[in-house]
Amino acid sequence: VAEFALIDRLAERVPTDGPGVVLSIGDDAAVLGDLGDELLVAATDTMNAGVHFLDDVSPVALGHKSLAVNLSDLAAMGARPRWALLNLSLPHADPNWLDAFADGFGALAREHEVSLVGGDTCEGAMSIGVTVLGTVPPGQALRRDGAAIGDDIYVSGNLGDAALALRERLAGRLVAEQDARALDFPEPELALGRGLRSQASACIDLSDGLLSDLGHVARQSGLAARVELERLPTSPSLAAIAEDDRFTLQLTGGEDYGLCFCAAPEREKAIRSLAAAEGTRVTRIGQIEAGAGIRCLHPDGSEWLPAASGWEHFREPRP
Ligand code: ADP
Ligand code: MG
Repeated sequence: VAEFALIDRLAERVPTDGPGVVLSIGDDAAVLGDLGDELLVAATDTMNAGVHFLDDVSPVALGHKSLAVNLSDLAAMGARPRWALLNLSLPHADPNWLDAFADGFGALAREHEVSLVGGDTCEGAMSIGVTVLGTVPPGQALRRDGAAIGDDIYVSGNLGDAALALRERLAGRLVAEQDARALDFPEPELALGRGLRSQASACIDLSDGLLSDLGHVARQSGLAARVELERLPTSPSLAAIAEDDRFTLQLTGGEDYGLCFCAAPEREKAIRSLAAAEGTRVTRIGQIEAGAGIRCLHPDGSEWLPAASGWEHFREPRP
């Protein structure tokens, strides 16, 4: 099948129309509107074969994840997602592959009421670029730079499951079902993010590993962070791993796609009821302090030091 047949197959499987979509796929550009008093929030992320996914990954998972990682960025801003654009570079036009990819992408788009309104399809090494557009009321976007001294630090979900799944898969070992789901089908925390607009002082989504991501919050807020290691939310498969190895996965592994956020201590009750209402688990893991950098402390007060701090493109040597 050729380029336009691929676009048609996509459009059959992914919602392309919805609120604010005046003109969708099929013309030279989309026409979008209906923002009311809200502001536009935009995020984009690319996934390349060999860097972001293994060549044999399921196309359904790839479709889901390419949208999920973008929606996770909007979640971290407290935004409501509305529209998406999809840039597909594919080595060949395999309709079965495309249908499965579109089904994964489409199911998540439908769940969060996102319409696919445009994109580009071309031949080349496999690369998937997604752009999402969402909205947030003026002054309510969650940012990285708002943390204050004494704020509690929270994360949603568990840490390290996706990193463990990736490591086991690369080693050719069997991956536990729950860990494989964490790696292949991360669920963006959109409802939690929106609820945090009125509660959190700062927020980021966990893509590169807690140390790296919380490091951005601390640096951009001009402060330091203390992480208490015994508080890290840990799944049963992670709990079975030797501590030093486990901490490396949980703090530097990346691809968790939960939210890491800060809030004043008096917000704890409201945050716990918000998480309960959204059916997601949040864990308080530490506190914002004066100074700079991140300290990870054992219960006896001694410090744990990582061998590496998180994923960065172009950094050598690779772990
Ligand atoms: P143009 O040549 O004007 O850039 P194209 O012929 O590339 O337009 O695309 C035709 C229409 O299909 C456009 O509306 C474009 O946004 C849409 N489109 C192309 N590829 C994709 C894709 N991968 N996902 C969603 N929409 C797409
Ligand atoms: Mg054109």
